[in-house]
Amino acid sequence: MPELVLIVLCVVGAFALGMRRAPLWAWVLGFAAAMLIWQSGALHGEPHALAPGWVGTAGWGLAAVLAAVCVPAIRRTLLVQPLFQLVKRILPRVSETERAALDAGTIGFDAELFSGQPDWGKLRAVPPITLTEEEKAFLEGPTNELCRMVNDWTIRHNDKEIPQEVWDFVKRHGFLGMLISKEHGGLGFSPQAQSLILGRIGSRSPDVCTIVMVPNSLGPGELIEKYGTPEQKEHYLPRLARGLEVPCFSLTGPTSGSDAATMRDVGYVERGTHEGKELVGIRLSWEKRYITLGPNATLVGLAFRVFDPDNLLGKGEDRGITVALVPADHPGVEIGRRHLPSGAAFPNGPNWGRDVFIPIDWVIGGEAMVGQGWRMLMECLAAGRSISLPSSAAAGAKSLLRNTSAYARIRKQFDLPIGRMEGLEEPLARMVENAYVNEAARGVTASMVSRGEKPSVISAIMKYQTTERMRRSLNDAMDLHGGRGVCDGPSNYLQAAYQMMPVAITVEGANILTRSLITFAQGALRSHPYLYKEIQACQDADDERGLAAFEQAFADHVSFTVSNLAGALFHNLTGGWFGRVPEKAYGTAEWYRQLWRSSRSFALVADLSVAVLGGGLKTKQKITGRLADALSELYLLSCVLKRYEDDGKPVGDRHIVALCARNGLHRFQEALRGTIDNFPSLPVRWLMRLAAFPLGARYRPAPDWLGHKCVELVLAPGEVRDRLTRYIYVSDNPNDPTGLLEVTFAKAVAAEAAEKKLDRAVRQGRVRRVHGTDWVGEAAKIGVISDEEAHLLSEVEALTARVIAVDHFDPAEVKPHYMTPGHNARAVQSAAAE
Ligand SMILES: Cc1cc2nc3c(=O)[nH]c(=O)nc-3n(C[C@H](O)[C@H](O)[C@H](O)COP(=O)(O)OP(=O)(O)OC[C@H]3O[C@@H](n4cnc5c(N)ncnc54)[C@H](O)[C@@H]3O)c2cc1C
Repeated sequence: MPELVLIVLCVVGAFALGMRRAPLWAWVLGFAAAMLIWQSGALHGEPHALAPGWVGTAGWGLAAVLAAVCVPAIRRTLLVQPLFQLVKRILPRVSETERAALDAGTIGFDAELFSGQPDWGKLRAVPPITLTEEEKAFLEGPTNELCRMVNDWTIRHNDKEIPQEVWDFVKRHGFLGMLISKEHGGLGFSPQAQSLILGRIGSRSPDVCTIVMVPNSLGPGELIEKYGTPEQKEHYLPRLARGLEVPCFSLTGPTSGSDAATMRDVGYVERGTHEGKELVGIRLSWEKRYITLGPNATLVGLAFRVFDPDNLLGKGEDRGITVALVPADHPGVEIGRRHLPSGAAFPNGPNWGRDVFIPIDWVIGGEAMVGQGWRMLMECLAAGRSISLPSSAAAGAKSLLRNTSAYARIRKQFDLPIGRMEGLEEPLARMVENAYVNEAARGVTASMVSRGEKPSVISAIMKYQTTERMRRSLNDAMDLHGGRGVCDGPSNYLQAAYQMMPVAITVEGANILTRSLITFAQGALRSHPYLYKEIQACQDADDERGLAAFEQAFADHVSFTVSNLAGALFHNLTGGWFGRVPEKAYGTAEWYRQLWRSSRSFALVADLSVAVLGGGLKTKQKITGRLADALSELYLLSCVLKRYEDDGKPVGDRHIVALCARNGLHRFQEALRGTIDNFPSLPVRWLMRLAAFPLGARYRPAPDWLGHKCVELVLAPGEVRDRLTRYIYVSDNPNDPTGLLEVTFAKAVAAEAAEKKLDRAVRQGRVRRVHGTDWVGEAAKIGVISDEEAHLLSEVEALTARVIAVDHFDPAEVKPHYMTPGHNARAVQSAAAE
């Protein structure tokens, strides 16, 4: 029995030392103290010390080894030095392009999640959504006006082109220069404002959103603003801001898609003639494809690899990736042909050129920036990726929810609004969750970017998670609408998004790559507290300095791992009860506790994965993909809690937050479980499972009743529904397909009581509801409903008939124009092959 007490004390002591990240000497002292107590006879009243058995010998031997490791000289010679050499061999090598990506962005709240002990203060320090008066006026003024003037069907189907009046409007109002500073003639709006403006336009027309998004994302405007020479800024920025130049950004080519850094587009530095003057320039040959705005562009931001064979610039031959500004009408530039991406109407197409000579000062930033292109792109990517697609994906999830919930309330089958059927409640609940989560993450991340962060790992999470969630909402919306969603036409408000969704999934880092390679693999290097320091130490050209840096980072890393092991086990055994909760977390304390607990488990599994897989991490993409999912769930739930607090914890949103939290934690658990179950090393798998799931997988998805409560909130007009779908464009025009939904929805809910009376009368056979009869009038005549109710019901019936109507066409009207006699569309697959 006394031995049992000692064992318990030792376990508690080990937990305490581990979780507090005690130094090694504290472990040695603790261990020696336990040995002494055991052997001194204090437990039995008779001395054991003089007769140590083999266990005692082994114990003191271990204590001696640990004590020796505490001596710096011994530690370095016997442990750190050999380890340094071993780790050098197994750690992933970081290439130049990877290093540029890693050094480019900033580390933010992602590092807190990787630490296993998130500092909630840092999350709360992110400002809530704020706009200046000017930004608010722009959102409510020109942005709404633009939304009102857009007819998505005409754009997508009839014209297959953005109308000139839309181009003129966006240019006139400065939409194309939102990120260009006021100093240079742009609007100089914050990323938060840009995100909301893009989202509102996106909720109306993905095509129009694209033509506004691209000039405000990674491309000439941003690159010139950040790296341009004074002359480039002065010349181009005011012209771009006013739309006198239409930019495009050409990075992707036939052989370099996801792996853009391997581009074959090349420029040789040489002397040449430009406008009659002899000067140093670059002779370019390239082939690019998929370039958005390309066919309409006047200014091409072109990425290519530069070689300087005669060392004219004095910095060696292979200068690396460079970005230049090439006017689209420059001799030799071939541009204007179009791709046809997924039924979209925004301009997109290839461009190419052979032996095109440009002056060296067309390089963005001039001669000094030759070879700096990749760094520039990576630096801008993190911010842009946080804003553009997450804005439209958040707006998409919100407008899909608003329109689909209205339709689900209006459309009846089996005498019941379809949204009230349990089978449809499930997808609707998912849509509620996606709308809340996407907007929460969008708002928090845009605020981070607005205060100067360039969160590379978070931007990757945002890109793949928000677009995937929007894709799920779209599929759910289509299922809910049945045939009404499938048949295209001017009254179909789903098809544009449905057709364009794959574009959002593919661009700015295709989602599979972003999930399985970029998020975790880059995150582990970037956001892990010690890994990148160890790698940098191993790659240090100065061996002595590298060893010293490695020793420090390694010692910290070991105590981090031990702390995670103890912490994860402790918090999982105690159900997260002792997880750290920030101040005033009324109503959210439980979710903070569980987030803390989960972050502990994530830190442990992530850390062991990196340590064991080392350089193999990049190829174990099923593992890294699941870890990316786990990390994403932690980040998204943090954003959900932050949004709820920033909104003043509205009572009506309580159930929605619980829905998001329960499902998020469950998905986190499954991602972690999948990682552990498939981890290639058995002992490590066992250790991970012990610490992360000592009592099994305990999180369950949100129960059905919770989903039901959340869906009820969106099946009637009200503040919760409005908050869930805030910032999107909402039409009140009954001649607009979504405006018609809004008007009908409000009236259908108002007529619910009267409708029930009518339905009952129909069931009882007192009123016959068939074509050719006035069943509402009949019901009023026999006193089932009042005249007022009859009036309202007739109105609802007429409006509903329009809502559920599906467009049909004369066959001649829908014949594709390329089938008209005399028309001959000649498709070309490769520009270079021509
Ligand atoms: C409509 C549209 C607009 C675009 N606009 C522009 C533009 O304006 N400017 C520009 O420069 N580019 C643009 N792009 C290019 C876009 O960024 C690329 O399509 C994208 O980078 C993917 O390249 P890819 O299509 O060649 O696919 P691939 O690189 O061939 O990838 C195919 C699949 O393999 C996956 N994959 C590839 N490598 C890995 C890996 N290592 N690990 C895991 N998965 C991997 C990808 O995720 C993808 O699912 C546009 C593309 C489209 C379709």
